[in-house]
Amino acid sequence: MPGPLNRENNVYGYESLKNSFPEKVFRFCPRCGSEQFPFRQDNSFLCEQCGFVFFINAAAAVAALIEDSHGRLLLTRRAKEPMKGKLDLPGGFVDTGESAEHALERELVEELNLVVGEKAFFMSCPNTYEYAGLTYFTLDLAFVCKVSSFDAMQLDDEIDSFEFIAPDEIDLEEIGLASIRKIVSLYQAYKIPPFLEGRGSG
Ligand SMILES: [Zn+2]
Repeated sequence: MPGPLNRENNVYGYESLKNSFPEKVFRFCPRCGSEQFPFRQDNSFLCEQCGFVFFINAAAAVAALIEDSHGRLLLTRRAKEPMKGKLDLPGGFVDTGESAEHALERELVEELNLVVGEKAFFMSCPNTYEYAGLTYFTLDLAFVCKVSSFDAMQLDDEIDSFEFIAPDEIDLEEIGLASIRKIVSLYQAYKIPPFLEGRGSG
């Protein structure tokens, strides 16, 4: 049974982010505008005027682990804050009503003009993402993806550049987001999803 989670022990960069947590930013009920809108232990706000309940949920995001024909991993360099200039994996937020698989396909076309083929779930990792003065709690879903051709690659404005790096040679300190660092470190250790290890080898 996993131990209890709370923000203090489970949020990367807790001290630097806590002033942009939702309970520090949201002041009014979005339904009736009342200021009696306290934040509660279960990660929700309750409006004491109209009874409206607003939950703070994790936002799903996807990250792609893609190797070239030499077994080198595709990493991008972030063109924008947060973590501008740091290494990242291709990917992005899952839209409402969208599957993680579709989000992967969409993001890879948008960011890099890459067509993703087969994909296998690798792992998930919680993260925080500060944007415009608000901390978002995310759940990054990492997939190992096959791409058959890199010939038509084109970068959008979220990405400064890209590089292919042998997994063993990736400097984890160069990776900006804590969840992506963890995903890449486990990829260095396992290369394929742990639950697929051993399959297809006989
Ligand atoms: Zn209200």
